[in-house]
Amino acid sequence: MTMLQQNYQSVLAQIATAEKDAKRHDKSVRLIAVSKTFPASDIREVYAAGQRDFGENYIQEWYAKTEELADLPDLVWHIIGQVQSNKTRFVAERAHWVHTIDKLKTAERLSAQRPQHMPPLQVCIEVNVSGEASKHGVPPQEAVALAAAVSKLANLKVRGLMCVAEAAAGEDELKRQFLLMRDLLGRLHAAGVGADVLSMGMSADMPLAVACGATHVRIGSAIFGKRNYA
Ligand SMILES: *Cc1c(COP(=O)(O)O)cnc(C)c1O
Repeated sequence: MTMLQQNYQSVLAQIATAEKDAKRHDKSVRLIAVSKTFPASDIREVYAAGQRDFGENYIQEWYAKTEELADLPDLVWHIIGQVQSNKTRFVAERAHWVHTIDKLKTAERLSAQRPQHMPPLQVCIEVNVSGEASKHGVPPQEAVALAAAVSKLANLKVRGLMCVAEAAAGEDELKRQFLLMRDLLGRLHAAGVGADVLSMGMSADMPLAVACGATHVRIGSAIFGKRNYA
């Protein structure tokens, strides 16, 4: 096993432990391996160990990787960064999931540009659960209305909600933010939007996110190592 493959196995084991501690079913949490800033060769290594879901933030960087990895047809690409309106076409044509919908306009473009032969693009509404000014996402009180509007678009499928919890928050505050997400998902159901996904939890806060109901965790550095943005 390579170093990345060892890291990967250890993250899978940590998720299994978190599921068990939270009295949740085995494999009820899906791992998205966040590969931003890392080369396609690293993705290949983790793919060879069995991983299929990968998350990317920067559309241009990701698009180049889709070309390099075109021989791996069962890769599932999750866009977890902002999609500017001049990049929606790439995303509509090659992504499987977008976790960061916070504007109806972006969703409308993605739906219009989704090729007819492809299945609907799976999307989550990003919620600014911490209220930090630097964060993307809709305020919690606007999440249900946006999800309801997006659910009317023909070529998108609303799957649930996503957040990036506050990095500096203590355990109690993090828990409050994750539980608010769970509560919002319940309100989506009540509003008739049949969504089942809570995309939350990263390398630093995964066990707590799982305890609070995360269905998809997005983990980068614990698998691929420290990122160098230079
Ligand atoms: C980078 C990133 C992650 C992964 O973060 P790590 O701390 O490396 O696990 C998860 N979600 C989003 C939105 C990210 O941008």
